[in-house]
Amino acid sequence: MLLSITSRTPDSRDLGYLLHKNPANVHMTDLAYGKATVFFSKATPEETTAHLLVEIDPVGLVRGKGARQGGWALGQYVNDRPYAASSFLSTAISRCYGTAMGGRCEKRPELPDTSLDLTIRIPALPLAGDTDRVRSLFEPLGYEVEIVRPLLDPEFPGWGEARYGDVTLAIRAPLAQVLRHLFVLIPSLDSIKHYWIGQDEIEKLLAKGEGWLSDHPQCEWITTRYLKFRRSLVSEALERLAPESEDDEEEDPDEKSVPEVERFLSLHEKRLDRVTELVASLQPDTLVDLGCGGGKLLLRLLRKTKVPDMLGIDVDSRSLEIAAKRLRLESLPDKQRIRVKLAQGALTYRDPRIEGRDVATLVEVIEHVEPERLDSLERILFEHARPGTLIVTTPNREYNALFETLAKDKLRHADHRFEWTRAEFHGWAERVSSENGYSFVIEPLGDVDETHGAPSQIAIFTRNPESTRP
Ligand code: SAH
Repeated sequence: MLLSITSRTPDSRDLGYLLHKNPANVHMTDLAYGKATVFFSKATPEETTAHLLVEIDPVGLVRGKGARQGGWALGQYVNDRPYAASSFLSTAISRCYGTAMGGRCEKRPELPDTSLDLTIRIPALPLAGDTDRVRSLFEPLGYEVEIVRPLLDPEFPGWGEARYGDVTLAIRAPLAQVLRHLFVLIPSLDSIKHYWIGQDEIEKLLAKGEGWLSDHPQCEWITTRYLKFRRSLVSEALERLAPESEDDEEEDPDEKSVPEVERFLSLHEKRLDRVTELVASLQPDTLVDLGCGGGKLLLRLLRKTKVPDMLGIDVDSRSLEIAAKRLRLESLPDKQRIRVKLAQGALTYRDPRIEGRDVATLVEVIEHVEPERLDSLERILFEHARPGTLIVTTPNREYNALFETLAKDKLRHADHRFEWTRAEFHGWAERVSSENGYSFVIEPLGDVDETHGAPSQIAIFTRNPESTRP
């Protein structure tokens, strides 16, 4: 079985530091049931890929077990264990990548918290039913999921599809977080466990699930499967995973129907929290989230505000699908569901659906727009959409100097077309406000550095009361 991790965040060879493995070498570890090998197929500043290959010794696996597996004698030897990703892989992850999973890196202490552009490939992952299952586990955590599910035998299509998929996951996140997700989710997809399930497993599950599992929409499914249906263990784990403060829930019973899925206190969380706070204080009747992406802001707004009419617009249909899942649009009670709609649309073309709303948000979107299209975006925003309040967030380029892992003069994200300094953002805000009859304030977002400012910035534009469309 194989787990490949690719980083594309320059200098991507940092992956070697994080994994505590020199990319030039091959690293072998003996396991109780076989051996694990870590090797790199590529290690350039742009792209580095580490493979964890776990080879199971089927004979060693059976040895000592007597006839406990019972039934089919040969079945002990002829089974999917050698190739299907399973709890063996989790054991290997903790043996070979334990330090990385623990978020420690002595040589480069800043690295473990850094979000990297990661792609994870697991060529044979049990699907536990259909491909939707795998999606439902990874997408709420922010992964983009691609699954290729081959036919069992191409010559006999009637036999149907394989029980395994070739799964590729993409995410921008700290490596430790990703390893913890894999550690828990891979064995939950596998119905067989190769070691005794006891109290230890609850502790492992809770430790690796900290910060994400309790809010995961599939928490119960994951826990039940991870603990292999051992009822007493499952109920203990679920009890300990239950939200701490029940008061919050009683305050707003609707909140319970939508799990909060992202809890990592990254910059993006702060940003979304701040925008949510602003919207809550404005108490608008109508809102549009422009470039809503995977719907994280809408989820917060659904939970934390009472805005009755919200629309999420994005050009990318895949993101909209993720947003629909994240918001659980299909299973929300009617009362909640009617509050939010998603629609595909490009912000550089006029669109009556986004016009005349009380509030519009544009969170981490403007820097994705080609500079030569900014003109049309401006016109759409300020002449046509013309919201009462427009909230725009964007990175502060000056702060990039403080990201040690970011090469000089590089942008933070491959898809950013530009990033503004504080002065540039201010200049832009000033011009568009005065041209369109708006006032604005700009606030820093995140911890402010004396020289470089805050990592991100928010502008809040308010339409002047007397102003009509220019
Ligand atoms: N607002 C979200 C997503 C930010 S990523 C969040 O904060 O989590 C930027 C998003 O803008 C992407 O989902 C991208 O598809 C969308 N986007 C970029 N250019 C766009 C355009 N011209 N029209 C509509 N959406 C656009």
